[in-house]
Amino acid sequence: MRLRSSLLAMTCFLLAACGADIRPPSPRLPVPESTRLYALDCGRVELSDAGVLSESGKPIGRAATMVDPCFLVRHPSGILLWDAGLPLSAERQTKEGLADPIGREFVDTSLMAQLKTLSLPPEAISFVALSHLHYDHTGNANLFTSSTWLLNRNELAWALQTPTPGWVDLSTFSARAKVKLEQLDGDRDVFGDGTVRILATPGHTPGHQSLMVKLTHAGTIVLAGDLAQTRENWEKRVVPPFNDSRSKTLASMDRIRALLGETHGRLIVQHAPEDFRALPRFPAYLE
Ligand SMILES: [Zn+2]
Repeated sequence: MRLRSSLLAMTCFLLAACGADIRPPSPRLPVPESTRLYALDCGRVELSDAGVLSESGKPIGRAATMVDPCFLVRHPSGILLWDAGLPLSAERQTKEGLADPIGREFVDTSLMAQLKTLSLPPEAISFVALSHLHYDHTGNANLFTSSTWLLNRNELAWALQTPTPGWVDLSTFSARAKVKLEQLDGDRDVFGDGTVRILATPGHTPGHQSLMVKLTHAGTIVLAGDLAQTRENWEKRVVPPFNDSRSKTLASMDRIRALLGETHGRLIVQHAPEDFRALPRFPAYLE
């Protein structure tokens, strides 16, 4: 009896000495040898008139679709979620969708269901980074309470002002108060090896950011957030009137254009259906 209790005490001592944790270990996830980029369907907006995205913002008598993807970057050292899509809601999941001032919003498949396809619980996501804080990019952020959030400091201060700016829904990222939050003042090398870098690209909003991912086979990819909302806007340097700063948007476009030139990189205009279609269909990925 004495032997058993002293063995127990010894075991407890050794476990404590080794820093053993009594919580069940998180599921072991296969670690990819090289970085993978997945594009997930996180909703879409059917615009009643595409003119809202033009230089004048005036109607042009043509409807358009804005896709709203989220991206998973699966790096050997961890997983980053880039942008969190539209909020999941009963209305957005109907055939009629949810009416908004520029059209109707739809969510055909949940982010959670797509993560399950990869056997990834939200706790497996190491980092959540948002290009900006409009609600079509923050919708599912609150799922990720175990992740470190990487938000631009200027962007957060802008979003938290009173009255709340248009297209910001504070409830969609209310978990910011309880998560590990890192406020960025500029660029950030997410995994410390230069392959996944958040780039400050202000203009659409005061703290807008883009993401550069270097992949072994696909090369350099830049996820543009709302740096431009359409391919045409990117190619013709069109800045719609709802952007926070025209001059900063153009400067950010120039920055990214130069970087794409240096790296022979590929830009993904996140809201452009043709750019989304050109990516491998989830759960396939670029690597
Ligand atoms: Zn957007």
